[in-house]
Amino acid sequence: AKDMGKNNCQFYTREMNACIEEKLVLLEGLRGALDDGQFRLVYQPKVDLRTGRIFGVEALVRWEHPEHGCIGPDRFIPLAEESGMIVALGEWVLRTACRQNRAWQEAGLAPLRMSVNVSPRQFEEQGLVPRVALALADSGLAAEWLELEVTEGVIMRDLQQAVAKMGELRAMGVSLSIDDFGTGYSSLSALKSFPVSTLKIDKSFVRDLGVSEGDQAVASSIIDLAHRLRLRVIAEGVETEQQCAFLRQNGCDEMQGYLFSRPLPPEQLRLLLEEQAAP
Ligand code: C2E
Ligand code: CA
Ligand code: CA
Ligand code: CA
Repeated sequence: AKDMGKNNCQFYTREMNACIEEKLVLLEGLRGALDDGQFRLVYQPKVDLRTGRIFGVEALVRWEHPEHGCIGPDRFIPLAEESGMIVALGEWVLRTACRQNRAWQEAGLAPLRMSVNVSPRQFEEQGLVPRVALALADSGLAAEWLELEVTEGVIMRDLQQAVAKMGELRAMGVSLSIDDFGTGYSSLSALKSFPVSTLKIDKSFVRDLGVSEGDQAVASSIIDLAHRLRLRVIAEGVETEQQCAFLRQNGCDEMQGYLFSRPLPPEQLRLLLEEQAAP
């Protein structure tokens, strides 16, 4: 029942029932989990491809379920999104990530940019901009150290409104990046009006770099496009030296993936940062 959160229930009645049942159990649990403190964040380093140094991290949420163990976001984010719970959960993520980033700075570590994922419903919700402002104010984190990752689909649903909202965030000093770039529907003409600073190449194009000429063409075109629009470009899901070499040769600015590090709990990330700071 590994993939069940993804709405891919199919064919067999027994599996279908199990799938629906699992959804109900998780949905039921989601409500209390936040109050119960069952969520935690892990942080995956983002690395500058030229210097090899960690310049930022992406916050990724985990659910420590009392009975089912650690549950990945692919299984519960869609449910949280459907049920509207994502607004409260997203706010918790935002506030926790800002506080953590501020804590690292106060501990004397070199400042990092913290990237937080924003789901469609969360992005569209009226209160997003004030919530972000409040998370920054309450944590004491300067806006320049926060980035929000938004997918193309979200932006394209209501282009004008999305661009206006991104503009407000940008004016506050928060950075924006387009997640999973290449998998959505944004037209190239729309792209130039997005007030974003980074495009993130989806891991589906990174996976077969080195084997698939098609994926090489897509990845190098995205890098080229980003640079022509004066944007930075990051590749996610980098697992092999071969993928990394291709990206570096083709001018990609940043990378993120298991090759460098898995997402880590805060204590372990801190050790990695201290190692990097050591002469
Ligand atoms: P995403 O934003 O595209 O995040 C990247 C996913 O790729 C993460 O999965 C990460 O652990 C995984 N990953 C990182 N490096 C590698 C690699 O080298 N190879 C492979 N195969 N995978 C890699 P994760 O943590 O399971 O998150 C899945 C998705 O759940 C995220 O995709 C994001 O869309 C969503 N998500 C996670 N945390 C949050 C959150 O706090 N809020 C919202 N709204 N969505 C979240
Ligand atoms: Ca992301
Ligand atoms: Ca992604
Ligand atoms: Ca994704």
